[in-house]
Amino acid sequence: MTTGAITTGNWGEFDLIARLFRPLAAGTPGALELKDDAALLTVPPGQELVATSDALVAGIHFLSDDPPDLIAKKSLRVNLSDLAAKGARPAFYLLSAILPRGTSREWLQRFANGLAEDQAAFGIGLVGGDTTTTDGPLTLSITALGFVPTGRMVRRSGARPGDAIFVTGTIGDGALGLLVSRGGLAALGSASRAHLRSRYRLPEPHVAFGSHISSFAHAAIDVSDGLVADLDHVLAASDVGGRLELGRVPLSPPAQDALASGAARLEDLVTGGDDYEILFTSPPEAWAAIRAAAGGLPVTEIGTVIAGQGLAIAAPDGTPITLARTGFRHF
Ligand code: ADP
Ligand code: MG
Repeated sequence: MTTGAITTGNWGEFDLIARLFRPLAAGTPGALELKDDAALLTVPPGQELVATSDALVAGIHFLSDDPPDLIAKKSLRVNLSDLAAKGARPAFYLLSAILPRGTSREWLQRFANGLAEDQAAFGIGLVGGDTTTTDGPLTLSITALGFVPTGRMVRRSGARPGDAIFVTGTIGDGALGLLVSRGGLAALGSASRAHLRSRYRLPEPHVAFGSHISSFAHAAIDVSDGLVADLDHVLAASDVGGRLELGRVPLSPPAQDALASGAARLEDLVTGGDDYEILFTSPPEAWAAIRAAAGGLPVTEIGTVIAGQGLAIAAPDGTPITLARTGFRHF
């Protein structure tokens, strides 16, 4: 899998760091202009450091002919989504770029431009990383660091019986967007297909909403493997059970069209992954605070935490169902 034509000679490793990555570190305290072996980071008093890492591989997490700026943004955003779900404010990131030999300068510049735009949009700065080449697929690993007031990180393990289960945004668009990117869902209108594909290529991490969730969420996770699988993770970590009402799961109009036309099944949407929404549990009476924090972002109650273990799933008509698979498995 190559990611661009070979042009007139490539930058050497150090040129590449100086030309592409150093500008992305400019002005970030502790990055030391990427001129040292390591960054030296300061955690503000009263705050803790939240660290998360996600690797994206061409052909698995994005398509190798996707636009380079969007690949860059997705790599960063999947990490920002994890920070948001933990209630952390983004601060720094490190980037390990494993580039196919012959990746063109133009491709690399567009990739760096994408990072620059999202750094500005989300208030995060590059502080280090590693760069190497491969005969295999383009692989990008980002480690993102954020701050949370001491003791306030929202864990997976805090759900309590009686909590309501909430999710932001809509579920299933990412999985449908991957189908569209592969030429599927041809029967949907072009605007719907474009919406879904953009949800797959360019997830919207809920950083602003995340900055409020520690005030009302008992437990939270970002939905990346599939709604059902990620809810299972929260329930297991919290040692509680849950009820999920599939009929309440929020779907975008294009996803509703895909369901109505028979092109997708509800089971596929709630197990598909790549949503990057925040799933959290809160006491039902937190609803007013949740709505205030959400602003224009939809938040929907989709179930209840109960004592015991396991997830009971009710179909839209109320009958209990069992799913053959709950989410994306990496291996
Ligand atoms: P080392 O020999 O220790 O691996 P490098 O020569 O790879 O060091 O890196 C030199 C500097 O450039 C370090 O500060 C490193 O963090 C930074 N750097 C290298 N690659 C990247 C990258 N992809 N993104 C950001 N910083 C990078
Ligand atoms: Mg190195």
